[in-house]
Parts: sequence; structure tokens; C-alpha cells
Amino acid sequence: MNLNCHEARPLLDSYLTNELQVETLHAVNQHLTGCAACRTALASRERTRAAVNSTVRGFVPDEAFTLQIRDAVRAEAATRGHLPWRWAIAALAASLLLLFGWRQWRLDTAQILARLALGKGDHILCARGGFFPDTPPTPAQMREQVGAAYVPLVQAVLDRSPGYVVREGHLCHWQDREFVHFILERQNRLVSVMLTRKHSPEEVFPRHALLSAMRAGGHAVYTTADNGMAIAGLDTGSHLAFVVSERGPAEGTALLAALAPSLALLAPQP
Ligand SMILES: [Zn+2]
Ligand SMILES: [Zn+2]
Repeated sequence: MNLNCHEARPLLDSYLTNELQVETLHAVNQHLTGCAACRTALASRERTRAAVNSTVRGFVPDEAFTLQIRDAVRAEAATRGHLPWRWAIAALAASLLLLFGWRQWRLDTAQILARLALGKGDHILCARGGFFPDTPPTPAQMREQVGAAYVPLVQAVLDRSPGYVVREGHLCHWQDREFVHFILERQNRLVSVMLTRKHSPEEVFPRHALLSAMRAGGHAVYTTADNGMAIAGLDTGSHLAFVVSERGPAEGTALLAALAPSLALLAPQP
């Protein structure tokens, strides 16, 4: 099946949400490989989706958050004494805190998911788009492709991903970013390991956000899942690092945790 742009464009949304049949997926991949205009269209759809729609869907405050609010309200009430007007103030403060806490939590959640969407977008465009060779490159070729600054990462990825075939290690671009990107495969499912330099020091995962699932090498790891892809991310200081796993969240976070020390060792560069 050969697609032209006219036929490929309406399929891009389903492509992004992983809903295409294998044969159609293959045809879209093939078209995208040869068509820069459709790749741009895809990136723009992905951007819109990341910004608008995938953000805060489906999240509810967890128990820790609820307890945090309750304790804060109690502490507030305890310092207010027992006069009725003070209780009124306490109640007002409590509702403001609740409102602020909830809004802040929503903002933090949206920001975390927007950050994680960076990794997801590059994985979809590059790994799922099939932009890697049929024959895995040698370690030397990968060192060449990722560039001098990231050479140590090649060996780290090879050493710390037993059971996977490292199908590619290269630099690629998505949105206005460059990614160091390793594509791993195990039993026909792909896992991406990605690193992108932060645009500014403010580009962090919100510190007190409650989505943080675990810590790895001193870094909080943030996770989400989207259409069969488990996405884990952390902030190394100079870079944002991601693992997008089509083999479930456990493998993704384990891989990110195993790589965290090597990722953190990369010297910040101007
Ligand atoms: Zn096209
Ligand atoms: Zn790539």
C-alpha cells in the first residue's frame, strides 16, 4: 500500500494514538520516511496533543495529597484558638489552601506530563516512525553518531540493558530540540532511551509534585502511561532524560534507574 499526502494526513491522529492496523501503520511509516511535509504535520499534531489534550486527563489526588491538605487544615485550625470569628478565618484559610493546593497540583501535573511528552514525541516520531537501520550499528558507529559529549553513554547503554538489542544510537530532532536517542528492542517491542539538553535551568519537574514514583541515583523519577507506552523521566541538572517503554512501566523505570548514574555524570556544557 503506497500512500500519498492526501491519504496519509487523515491517518496521522490515529497514528499518534497507536490505533492503526499493522499494514496501515507500515504504509504511514513508509510515507513519513520520504515526506518532510507530513513529518512536520505529524510533529505539529503531536505538539497540540501534548499541550492540550494529554495533560491532566484521568488523574485524581492520591492519598498522600489528601492527608497533606487535611494536616495543613488541622494545623491552621489549631493555631487559631477557639473564638468563633477565628474559626471563620480558619475555615476561609482552609478553603483557600484547598483551592490553591488543588490548582497547584493540577499545574504541576500538567507540567510534568508536558515534560514527559517531549520523550514520548521523539519516541513516536523516530523509533515508531522506523527511522533506524535494519542492521544495528556497531558501538564505534554509535559513538560517532552521538558525538563526543555523549560517547560514554554508548557503553553505559550497552552494559546496562541486558536482554535488549540496541538497534540504534544517534542524534535526532523533534520540535526545537536535539535528542541523544538509543532505540532498544526486545521481542519485537521498542524502548527508547533519550536525553535532551534543558533549554533553561527553570526547565524542571515540579519539586513537590506527587506523581514522582521513585528515586534513582538521587533523582526523582516521574512516570505516566499513554496508549501502551510507559514514559519515565528525570532531571539530571543539565538534561532531561526519558525512557519510553512499549514493554510496560516496570522495564522502563528499571532501565532509567540503571542508567541514572551514567546520565548524571554527563558534564553540563554551555
Ligand atoms: Zn506527505
Ligand atoms: Zn531518534
